[in-house]
Amino acid sequence: MTEFTLGQLPMRYLGLPLSSKKWKRVDCQLLIGKITSRINIGYSKLLSYAGRIQVVTAVSFSIHSFWGSVFILPQSILKEVDRICRNYIWGSNEEKRKVSLVAWEKICCPKKFGGLNVKGCSNWNVASVGKLLWQLSEKQDTLWVKWVHGIYIRNEDSIWEHIPPLDCSWYWKKLNAPKNNMRNWYLQGRYNLTHSGQYSISASYNAMLGELNRLRIADLIWTSVAQPRHRMIMWLAVQGRLLTKERMLRLNIPVDNEICCLCHSQVMETQLHLFAHCTWLG
Ligand SMILES: [Zn+2]
Repeated sequence: MTEFTLGQLPMRYLGLPLSSKKWKRVDCQLLIGKITSRINIGYSKLLSYAGRIQVVTAVSFSIHSFWGSVFILPQSILKEVDRICRNYIWGSNEEKRKVSLVAWEKICCPKKFGGLNVKGCSNWNVASVGKLLWQLSEKQDTLWVKWVHGIYIRNEDSIWEHIPPLDCSWYWKKLNAPKNNMRNWYLQGRYNLTHSGQYSISASYNAMLGELNRLRIADLIWTSVAQPRHRMIMWLAVQGRLLTKERMLRLNIPVDNEICCLCHSQVMETQLHLFAHCTWLG
């Protein structure tokens, strides 16, 4: 009667394999390649830290706004994308490892808490899944929620009580996986909603980062009229993470000598010396 034909899984959707079964390794590799295609290791040598952070922010934006909202992504993909982004920022590649000057967890914090506002994929995906669970829990008036209630939850009271059947799709199992952790969180009213009463993925993401200390000087760093690379140096300096010769020695990185490369007075190149005592600055 209608012109629709019955399709079969697996099929390709937006260039990706769509299947109700667990993703195969080759599918994961394909998606990792697509997500991180903007990360060009060869070209990265020409970019400063600040430039690379911008590339990583663009990558994380695309994963969250597109891939993350279409698919619940396997943890292995998210961890690998995080790893590629982390290595890219610090300039590591297969042949050469570079030191990570600041921990990835710190980079993934909001700027006011001392981070760089990069969204870590693993946490962000859980926060996104949280939105779907919240919609189901609130029995929101959307086609998807009605469909899921009709197919899976049926006569059960709520999504929180629902136990996925053994023969259900891989996707539905994945969606239910973070539920136990979220249940208490939800029932205690600790989920993060906006003023309009809607679930906020970014507020939930921030809540998942736990108690964070505010970095008072953050406003000064990020609102100052300075080039991005200078802000980045300032950010590193505030955390005491500039790669001075003193720090290189502590990290067991070989250096020719330990004296200041600017004034050549016989003192060790420390962060304090560079910013406060170096005579080269006049
Ligand atoms: Zn000096």
